[in-house]
Amino acid sequence: MAPLSPQIPSNCDQRLADSHEINNNIIIAAAAKQKSSNQSTESDDNLISRSFIIKTYAKSNVRYIYYTNNGTIVWRNVFLFFALHMIYFYSYYVCVANKCWFTWIFGYWWGLAGGLGVTAGAHRLWSHRSYKARLPLRILLMIFFSIAGQNSVYEWSRDHRVHHKYSETDADPHNSRRGFFFAHVGWLLTRKHPDVIVKGKQLDCSDILNDPVVSFQKRYYPIFFLTFCFILPTLIPVYFWSEGWLNALIVGAFWRYCTSLHCTWFVNSAAHMFGDKPYNPRIEPRENPFVSFGAFGEGFHNYHHEFPFDYKTSEMGWKLNVTTVFIDFMALIGQAYDLRQLSQKMIDERKLKVASNSFK
Ligand SMILES: [Zn+2]
Ligand SMILES: [Zn+2]
Repeated sequence: MAPLSPQIPSNCDQRLADSHEINNNIIIAAAAKQKSSNQSTESDDNLISRSFIIKTYAKSNVRYIYYTNNGTIVWRNVFLFFALHMIYFYSYYVCVANKCWFTWIFGYWWGLAGGLGVTAGAHRLWSHRSYKARLPLRILLMIFFSIAGQNSVYEWSRDHRVHHKYSETDADPHNSRRGFFFAHVGWLLTRKHPDVIVKGKQLDCSDILNDPVVSFQKRYYPIFFLTFCFILPTLIPVYFWSEGWLNALIVGAFWRYCTSLHCTWFVNSAAHMFGDKPYNPRIEPRENPFVSFGAFGEGFHNYHHEFPFDYKTSEMGWKLNVTTVFIDFMALIGQAYDLRQLSQKMIDERKLKVASNSFK
């Protein structure tokens, strides 16, 4: 990128920057808050790596980006997640007071489907290509993923590839070095660090979007999100066992949604901070059985970050790993194939190396 020579007009039109606005055709110019001449001679990369984008202004066809370390909170998301959690806590009262046990059990199973959409779908299939899936299974996983309400398959998988490539750096969307809260949910309440955008653009994720199932879901994501995350889990209890509308919405949709979000988020927070590191002690991801229980096998994170191509994400087969059971079943009925995994010999050798401190 060209050296910077920003001249910020005092009456410039400063607007909140949307990270998605940045693309290769836009000339990025940066200015420090004080607009000093020293800072204006720094390269984009230097400024990007130590600052956050918060404001932009456009002049003819050039968009300038204004850097500061303040004001990166996305208040709309803060409000939405706060409201979601208020409803979540209220849902326990609703469940007990109105005896919505059947709807609660339904919410669990609906959430299990959503979880498999994340783990077997967006994660192990589309992000890591650890196995291949035939069209019916890909459609099923896309629908399951829509239940989880965690953005489109494409955006989830792209962010996850960036997370693996740049773990524990500013380019990691949920960099655990910024603390538990940030890694868990804070990253969704703030604007992306510029490194996430810049480095993310250098990754080729075209293979994900080349899957028509993924591109279709991306195109109509709001419809998929509303239908499978909220409308159906409300309609089903009302229609099949005459649950009250509000009970169905609060317990079947909101309780399930919030619970499943935290199960996923713990992989980014707890599994990067608490647990053993038997496969690579020099990286932060760890083996966390509690996270594996809640996230259907995704808590064996030291193993997974070291060997991300293994469809089991652990060496322990079906143990605390509902996702592996699901993929194995799909392989049995011919829907999943070319399952990739590490040989037991290589796993044993690695563990021995780490245990004897000879791992380089
Ligand atoms: Zn992964
Ligand atoms: Zn991770």
